[in-house]
Amino acid sequence: MKLSSTTDGAEGGATAGGGRYGTPAGGNGSAPRSAGRNALPRSAFRAWPEIRARLRAANRWAVFVDFDGTLARLRSRPDDVTVPLGVKRVLQRLARNANIFIAIVSGRRRQNLRDLIGVERVHYFGLHGAERDGEQATVSRESALALESAKRAVRRELGPFPGIWIEDKGLAFSVHHRDAHAAESQSAGAALVTLLAPWKDALHVLDGSRVWEILPKEIPGKHAAVGRVLGGLPAGTSVVYAGDDGTDEPAFAMLPDQITIRVGYTRNTRTGAQFCLPSPAYVLRFLTRLERELR
Ligand SMILES: [Mg+2]
Repeated sequence: MKLSSTTDGAEGGATAGGGRYGTPAGGNGSAPRSAGRNALPRSAFRAWPEIRARLRAANRWAVFVDFDGTLARLRSRPDDVTVPLGVKRVLQRLARNANIFIAIVSGRRRQNLRDLIGVERVHYFGLHGAERDGEQATVSRESALALESAKRAVRRELGPFPGIWIEDKGLAFSVHHRDAHAAESQSAGAALVTLLAPWKDALHVLDGSRVWEILPKEIPGKHAAVGRVLGGLPAGTSVVYAGDDGTDEPAFAMLPDQITIRVGYTRNTRTGAQFCLPSPAYVLRFLTRLERELR
């Protein structure tokens, strides 16, 4: 049974399937390559002349950046994550440029992102885009009830698994398996599929970096929020999107002609992104170069 995938509801020609849910994410999460795109992603630094030319061809830019694993290094617990000062500074400089729309798009709650980063004029999109500027996330009563029932069942059944813990995010919850052995992750994933079956019409699962995110289907994912923003920006706006796991793949698929960057890329990663960077430290270097270029 396929309960959901990271690409459910993806717009603009996103790949079908996914179906990795229920298996260990292998440390970096992954998703199917975009239909019709078989090229491996190229280093964003080696491809910089091409990226620069594409940026210079526009006079408005939208920069979307995931948070965990992209701007900040992953930790066992989300509460242990800190934001390097250099990241805050480059975000400040980007946000001061009136021709740049800069947004952080994350599975975290919006307020948590704001507290961690604390840079004014940056747009913070929490809960996979459901919490946006001036907008509180809402879902139907049916979805809210389904989520509460599913949360209780998952807590009861998966709570005792070693290395697995459940995070309540209000309109979503996460099953973290970063600290679990591969066999435990696999068993927990399989158990999760079975447990969530009664609510498969109301809920879906996004496969993050060693985390399964359970959300109402009314919250499709980050790509939907990005699509809405782009709909309100002038035609010809050049887009950069950087992210590190399966929850970012539908956005890569939605932006086939834009600058998409998979962070933490290894040879085992399947991605629809055009470019890649090895780690958040390189994302900082990339954003610094980008900001200078767009001044
Ligand atoms: Mg991430």
